[in-house]
Amino acid sequence: RVLVGTKVDQNHANYVMAYNMLTGIRFTVSRTNAKMDRELNEADFSAKHKFSFDVTGAELTPSAKYDFKFKDYAPWVFRHLRAIFKLDPADYLMSLTSKYILSELGSPGKSGSFFYFSRDYKYIIKTIHHAEHKVLRKMLKDYYDHVRENPNTLLSQFYGLHRVKIPFGRKVHFVVMNNLFPPHRDIHKTFDLKGSTVGRMFEEKNLETNPRATLKDLNWLSRNNHLELGPSKRHYFIEQMEKDVKLLQKLKIMDYSLLVGIHDLSKGNDEQLRDKTLKVFQLGTDKEEELQQPPALTRTPSKMEASRKAKEMRQTLRQEKPVPMSQTGSKMPDEMEDEKMRKDHYFYLDDGGFRASHENDQPGDVIYYLGIIDCLTHYGVVKKLEHVWKGWQHAESQISPIPPERYGDRFVRFISGITKSAEEAEHDAVEKLQG
Ligand code: ATP
Ligand code: CA
Ligand code: CA
Repeated sequence: RVLVGTKVDQNHANYVMAYNMLTGIRFTVSRTNAKMDRELNEADFSAKHKFSFDVTGAELTPSAKYDFKFKDYAPWVFRHLRAIFKLDPADYLMSLTSKYILSELGSPGKSGSFFYFSRDYKYIIKTIHHAEHKVLRKMLKDYYDHVRENPNTLLSQFYGLHRVKIPFGRKVHFVVMNNLFPPHRDIHKTFDLKGSTVGRMFEEKNLETNPRATLKDLNWLSRNNHLELGPSKRHYFIEQMEKDVKLLQKLKIMDYSLLVGIHDLSKGNDEQLRDKTLKVFQLGTDKEEELQQPPALTRTPSKMEASRKAKEMRQTLRQEKPVPMSQTGSKMPDEMEDEKMRKDHYFYLDDGGFRASHENDQPGDVIYYLGIIDCLTHYGVVKKLEHVWKGWQHAESQISPIPPERYGDRFVRFISGITKSAEEAEHDAVEKLQG
């Protein structure tokens, strides 16, 4: 997995699709946001609205570059969810503006889903299968209630559910969700953990060509890694994970994982690698945009545009400077601005993540960026078949498609088992040696 992926510009095969997604999001989100806020009712959870976009524009919709149809699901529920997750409405729209095209991660998983980052890297658009779409719609009320009761949930934060269809094309469902990884910190290692062992090894020799690949359970175990959390952080983390998993078990969902990105504070940010990925991508987009716009003299940028440009400049400048070790705790003003959005989220408090801690609860040397992802797979027919098939070859405890109840229990057991402070891990290892 590369850090950022390929830029979706006009020559990209999925440019039209991406453009239509963003145009539809912008239109429907502004439309809902423009109304006065109100309480949700039952009907909001099953609501769907269809819009037709075309080059001439219609009564309801503005003209667009292409003809397409757009469906918006449960807009009021998602508006409220975005508020619970403390997103700033203007900021959300700005990040997903169609003028600035996203980058595509391609299809990192086996599922064939595509991933797109908003250009500021804060949001991810994931295309999903119709079955996953149905799961999210069906679970929306439970998810909403859960999130309200658990603002610190580790589950993926869903901000929108939509569908786009181009003439003679197929229907593409997608969700907008949080990018767990921060734009301003390098992730030195990434793990996708499920608590199963079959097929859960990334060939380490491939790390040479792809140093940022996502590693799995067996890689984690073979490195004798731990989620190094002291008593109090460990307690809150496990407690929240258990609550989240309980919901998934109730909804008969499985196959999810704990995604863990590790930022090593002693390594800091590798500026060269960033140059090749995020920064170059952002600047590249900027330059092209500017070329297409009239010369500066004939056009005065709006105040909002100007302040955004200023913010981007600051961001770029910040990325160019290596962050000295001693300063990792102090933040630049606009960095704080970015974090205000998520400020109450316990697990995203330390620079957008969750810093390791020692047995005495003193801060550790790495920051974890973590959450439970890929949680829209229902234990359906496919998994049952897979279960029978894999069940012939392996003991059940090792295989991934087991029923949701046991999947969740195994997940919690595994993650709890690897969560311990460095001191505790060492103590346990010594004890094991001594028998
Ligand atoms: P599969 O079903 O084969 O596991 P998928 O297409 O459903 O694949 P996911 O498991 O959701 O894909 O994600 C694949 C990878 O994309 C993850 O391992 C992770 O590296 C990255 N990813 C997914 N969601 C996020 C997120 N919210 N933040 C950051 N990275 C993510
Ligand atoms: Ca997955
Ligand atoms: Ca999946």
